[in-house]
Amino acid sequence: MSQIVVSLHDVAPSTAELSRRWLELLETLGVRASLLVIPGRWNGQELSQSPAFVDWLHAAESRGHEIVQHGLLHTRDKNFASTSNRSRIGQLLGRGCQEFWELPYEEAFKRLIHGKSIMAKCGFQTTGFVAPAWMMSDGTLDALRDTGFQYTNDHTHLINTQTGAKKFVVVTSQRPRSLLSLPGVAVTNGIAKYAETRGKPLRIAIHPADLMSPRLREANLKLITQFLSRGYVSMTYDEMCTLEFPSSPHSNLENYKRDQLT
Ligand SMILES: [Zn+2]
Repeated sequence: MSQIVVSLHDVAPSTAELSRRWLELLETLGVRASLLVIPGRWNGQELSQSPAFVDWLHAAESRGHEIVQHGLLHTRDKNFASTSNRSRIGQLLGRGCQEFWELPYEEAFKRLIHGKSIMAKCGFQTTGFVAPAWMMSDGTLDALRDTGFQYTNDHTHLINTQTGAKKFVVVTSQRPRSLLSLPGVAVTNGIAKYAETRGKPLRIAIHPADLMSPRLREANLKLITQFLSRGYVSMTYDEMCTLEFPSSPHSNLENYKRDQLT
């Protein structure tokens, strides 16, 4: 059985309408998506101040979609920027979104816990974290382990944050105006061919703004339909990680939750 994960990025009160419309479209295809939710203040709005949006997320969760923590503020903090090549590359690829790219362990830990507490206050127990622009420092990876997250992922791999185990899973992303997707649809189709002919798992990353472009919207929907019709099974990141890292049940998270309660 080959698996496909469709992730909807940047789900937040400021993208509520586009996110809702995307999820409707995905549901008509039978997709259960991983929704990457920004916990903190972003584009002038906050999750914790948006009860109707939180209700919508809970309803989505109850229909089998997954809520994933996506950064805290989704914006690079200049206080942690340097003049290094790493910093310049980060800015080039992340375009200001690379919040966790240069964070030392302590700051990453603080932001992860802060985000987690907002999510918990809104009623969500997340097992996964995805850094904005998929970019994170080594300190972030260590902090993810120590804050009880079970998995993360980047441009190339699923990562078990508790054991450090990695699994290569290709991802397609057609984010408008992104350096990472300049060649866009052609490259995406090439990646899709690779996954399909080899029966490999695949990730399809969607951004709310993709909906505004008929070309990107259709390309994403076509890709998903193509894989589902070939027998790929739609699942969430959490489920894919449980399959890919079978020796690591969520015991650490359970311990973490227990510690929080006592
Ligand atoms: Zn994002």
